Amino acid sequence: MSARILDGTKIRDQIFAELKDEVAVLSSAGIRPGLTAVLVGDNPASQLYVKSKIAACEQLGMASGLLTPPATVTTIDLLALVEDLNRDNNTDGILIQLPLPSQVDTKRVLEAVDPAKDVDGFHPVNLGRLVSGRPGLVACTPAGCMEILRRNEIKIERANAVVLGRSDIVGKPMALLLMHANATVTICHSKTRDLPDMVRRADIAVAAMGKAGFVGADWIRPGAAVIDVGTNRVTDAKEAERLFRNFPERLQKFRAKGNALVGDVHPDAVNVAGALTPVPGGVGPMTITMLMSNTVKAARLRRAKSNPRLSETSAIAR
Ligand code: NAP
Repeated sequence: MSARILDGTKIRDQIFAELKDEVAVLSSAGIRPGLTAVLVGDNPASQLYVKSKIAACEQLGMASGLLTPPATVTTIDLLALVEDLNRDNNTDGILIQLPLPSQVDTKRVLEAVDPAKDVDGFHPVNLGRLVSGRPGLVACTPAGCMEILRRNEIKIERANAVVLGRSDIVGKPMALLLMHANATVTICHSKTRDLPDMVRRADIAVAAMGKAGFVGADWIRPGAAVIDVGTNRVTDAKEAERLFRNFPERLQKFRAKGNALVGDVHPDAVNVAGALTPVPGGVGPMTITMLMSNTVKAARLRRAKSNPRLSETSAIAR
């Protein structure tokens, strides 16, 4: 039987509709949530990401700003720029597009961002709040995975959840979110023994390793929910044949284009899992969605102090 497809674009559209309403309510109270992006240098992939984030702000009626320091920028320059944004009342969210050039101390710059405006959820203060289960801004990709699970009514409480990957931006916060939702969580990484056996125990498996099609279909427990965070661009024909042997249409597309986007889970898992996020179209659209959600939430939390009427709405709960 084929897995239920957990469509991230559909959930993005739902959340965007909700956010649009929330932005309208805030705007009518004189608060227009605003995101300012800092894009250093001229990396084409980063330019594309920032462009889509700014387009999302426009779509939702939010304010957006773009600062573009040159690739030669220093850590001190960026710290001064972040300090200005921390003080700017119209900036609710500060987005430092990564990677930064090698001469820049990335950690120092990210830690200079006011935690109240840290809409990427990377600041140690926000990670600490997540650890202790207190409200804060949560990293966008894992927050998006939780929305996918919840909005598809996948039972998290009492589930055995296995997270593959322990990065600060995906694996660790994902594991914490699942634990706070009362799953029993196992975190796996490159030194984990018997990885397939670990995954076979999972009612919910989250793959965030960055290894194309690494998680075999035979690792998946029949009926499990699989969240595939991996986004890997495959260009090798042999690799494409290994991945798409049962998907002639995808193989044909690969041959026409010379590349294809695949997750960390082998596409054959669709015949074993109970529910599965596709790649593309699963977790991917949720990351920008949660960035927008965090920006609205940051606006409300930071500016609600002077406007208590706004503190009791759904953006805070999310
Ligand atoms: P990362 O920082 O490179 O972390 C990868 C993690 O996977 C590490 O913890 C690593 O273990 C583990 N790992 C690597 N090889 C492994 C193996 N053979 N067996 C078990 N564990 C292994 O990556 P990330 O930033 O978390 O991203 C992970 C993936 O998600 C990437 O494909 C990335 O492109 C994708 N991603 C997608 C989105 C989206 O919006 N869809 C957003 C963010 C990331 P060690 O700690 O032992 O090295």
